[in-house]
Amino acid sequence: MEKKGILIVISGFSGAGKGTLVKELMRRHGEYALSVSMTTRNPRPGETEGVEYFFTDKAHFEETIAADGLVEYAVYCGNYYGTPRAYVEEQLEAGKHVILEIEIQGALKIKKKFPESLLVFVTPPSGEELVRRLQGRGTESAEVIEKRLARAVEESEGVEAYDYIVVNDDLGECAEEIHFLVEACRRAPVRRGAFINEIRRQLSGFVKGERE
Ligand code: 5GP
Repeated sequence: MEKKGILIVISGFSGAGKGTLVKELMRRHGEYALSVSMTTRNPRPGETEGVEYFFTDKAHFEETIAADGLVEYAVYCGNYYGTPRAYVEEQLEAGKHVILEIEIQGALKIKKKFPESLLVFVTPPSGEELVRRLQGRGTESAEVIEKRLARAVEESEGVEAYDYIVVNDDLGECAEEIHFLVEACRRAPVRRGAFINEIRRQLSGFVKGERE
């Protein structure tokens, strides 16, 4: 099958469990690479530079935009978030499926730039469960939680733009569901061009041979 990897966007309401899900997917399957975004938001307790994010300031972020160093970027709850270009391009070329865990504005930009990308939206089983998970995280103030819930309502309006919706109820099952979607994507005609052309070539040779 074609060597080039698939660009996968994973979005979902804040608190849908995307981070844990992506870790589980990568633990189970070796062919994925996770892009680390750049952001101007402050690190949360326990977050490490270069692991969850590259933390930076507004001026540096805007310089990176100007230098075309980001595949996409967006403003979310007052902060910039963006995907560094170099890592994504390198990993796709190396045949890895690159995961972008990004919000909806960024997802839409990716689909426009890379129509063959796979957009997956992850939701918790219910709205009540989402509120419970956000409050249970304990790292956010009531005000931030409120902002994120308001944003979740907005984002729910845009779900139709995604290719698939998966419900994150059982972690393992959800990870396998995403892997299954990626495997299906690899079989799309757009990725099997060289193979199908070779079959066409062989067949047309055969037809000619028969006529002679
Ligand atoms: P958080 O502050 O909770 O880490 O992330 C807030 C939102 O920003 C999440 O929905 C997350 O998926 C999204 N996000 C993280 N990195 C990027 C990025 O590089 N680009 C875009 N567009 N969104 C991002």
